[in-house]
This record gives sequence, C-alpha cells and structure tokens, in this order.
Amino acid sequence: MNGVAPQFARLALIGFGLIGGSIARAARAQGLAAEIITTARSEKTRARVAELGVVDRVVDTNVEAVRDADLVILCIPVGACGAVAQEIAAHLKPGAIVSDVGSVKGAVVKDMAPHLPKHVHFVPAHPVAGTEHSGPDSGFAELFINRWCILTPPEGTDAGAVDRLRAFWAAMGAKVEVMTPEHHDLVLAITSHLPHLIAYTIVGTADELAQVTSSEVIKFSAGGFRDFTRIAASDPTMWRDVFLANKDAVLEMLGTFNEDLAKLTRAIRRGDGEALFDHFTRTRAIRRGIVEIGQDSAAPDFGRPHPQLQKKPD
Ligand code: NAP
Repeated sequence: MNGVAPQFARLALIGFGLIGGSIARAARAQGLAAEIITTARSEKTRARVAELGVVDRVVDTNVEAVRDADLVILCIPVGACGAVAQEIAAHLKPGAIVSDVGSVKGAVVKDMAPHLPKHVHFVPAHPVAGTEHSGPDSGFAELFINRWCILTPPEGTDAGAVDRLRAFWAAMGAKVEVMTPEHHDLVLAITSHLPHLIAYTIVGTADELAQVTSSEVIKFSAGGFRDFTRIAASDPTMWRDVFLANKDAVLEMLGTFNEDLAKLTRAIRRGDGEALFDHFTRTRAIRRGIVEIGQDSAAPDFGRPHPQLQKKPD
C-alpha cells in the first residue's frame, strides 16, 4: 500500500489474463483496493492465480466474485461479456461500478447494458495497452503507464462513478479520455483493428508462398516482416471476437484502405516515383509525431538489445 486510503473496499476481477492480471498487480502496487478478489473460467487458471499470490482471494464462480464488490471489472473476451453480465446481474451490490476492458465498445454496451440493474453504475472502459502474450502469467503492473484508457459511459451515467473509475485508471499510470462507444470503435478500427488484420494477412501470405521457402521468410525477417509477426501472434480468441464485434467500423476502414492500396499499386505499376516519395514522406511524419508524444521509443531497431555490438572497453 502507498499510504493513501484505497479507492475501493473490494475489487472483483472476472478473468485473469494479460489485462486482468495487470490490473491486479497495478491496483495492488498502488493500494487502490482494500481487497482484490478474482475468478477465471478454468480451474487451471484459478489454481495458477492462487499460486501467484497477487490477489487476496480466488473464488470458483463469477457470482461469488461480485458479491459485495464496489468495483467489478470484466477482463474477458468481448464475445463473453453479455452472458457474464446476465449471470452476475442479480448479485451486484447496489451502488457498485461495473466495468470491462473490451477492445470493442459498441457491442459490449449493447450486450451488457440490458442485463444490469438500475442500482449499479455501468462505465465501460478500454485500456489501449497490450502485448501479444496472454494468460495468468503475462500481466505486469507497469502495462498501463503512459497509455490511454478510454471510458465510454452511456448517456446519463452518474458523473461521480465516471470520476472514480477515471481516478482508478489514472492511479495505475494511464491517461484517461471519455468518448462515445461509436466513436471509440471507429478510432480503434483504424489504429488497432486494421493493423492487426493487415499483420494477420501478410504473415499468412508469406506462409503460403510457393517461390520463397518458410525458412527463408524466417531467416530474412528483419527486413520488416518480423515486426508484423509480433502483432500476428496476438490471441486468436480475442481477435476473432474483435472483428465479429466491430464489423461495421472495420469494413468501413478496410474500404478506405483498399482504395489507398490501389493508388499505391497504380503508382508502382506506372513508375510514379513522385507519388511514392510524397506518400512515404507524409507517413514518416506520423511516426515522428508518435515518438514525440511519448507513445513509442525513438531508439534504433525499436530499442532491441544487441549485446554482441556493445562497445568493448578500451
Ligand atoms: P487473456 O490473457 O486470454 O485472458 C482472458 C481471461 O478471460 C482468462 O482468465 C480466461 O479464463 C477468461 N475467459 C476466456 N473466455 C471466457 C468466457 N467465455 N467466459 C468467462 N471467462 C472467459 O485475454 P486478455 O488479453 O487479458 O484480454 C481480455 C480482454 O481485454 C478482451 O476483451 C480484450 O479485448 C481486452 N484487451 C486486450 C488487450 C491485449 O492486448 N491483449 C488490450 C486491451 C484490451 P481461462 O484462463 O480460465 O480460460
């Protein structure tokens, strides 16, 4: 505990993978809840969480987890949120804040809201932070530091509840912004969902090539390919659910992307160096902007260590 009174007496985390595990570790490190209770779908994960010792109690069911909890966060795949909301609804404490961490917001709000009783505050959230790892061992307390967390409270949500959740995420190091679920889904379709789709496509294409062997693709991957493979290694369940749940926004962005790809294809076919140069100059400026606002490192090769090249002492 960091000496400040905890913001919540009891925090319940349903699901303990990368995101649930990181919230547990960060909330504990910052002393944000007097008690942290968690559950997961499988006995195997629950046993592992108990072994890790980063929460106060591991329980067998979602219903047990939410009993008397002041803040309940669903840290499970987007497609499972509706059924879990229905299961826990009758057991929620009056005045509790119910939230989630799903990467799509419109579908989660549509699936969860109808089940939740009027006496709880529903404040959906999406921490825009992650890695390609999943499971109970993958979380870490620093995951949210300097990353955005987007809250999408439905119209009319109690402002005090939104402020409490904002403070919770801010205390874990996140920068918090509020927007509508629809706008969130459009923004994330271009900044996250489409890049994942492109990575999944290109890695699959390389795997199926006849003229270039798989071992050559792996051997020469530093040419750019390997940076796509990190994204394409992301959890298949999570990403299946994201594309099913954010279908309209992803299809809209994909339409624009295909038009732009056609323009670049034409420039290559026609030998239009000026069009290619202008395009690449514009995109380079976007990368610089991301580094300037501290959302990535400017270190060469993404800061990968190269011990064999370290300078020898004179
Ligand atoms: P994860 O590491 O795979 O963990 C998922 C957790 O959900 C596990 O504890 C799992 O239990 C449980 N679970 C899976 N299916 C379930 C179901 N049908 N019903 C109840 N529980 C179920 O996943 P994650 O990366 O933490 O992602 C969780 C959520 O965070 C997703 O909604 C995702 O969109 C969102 N998110 C992810 C990232 C990212 O980069 N990974 C970033 C931001 C937001 P078992 O282990 O027992 O199967």
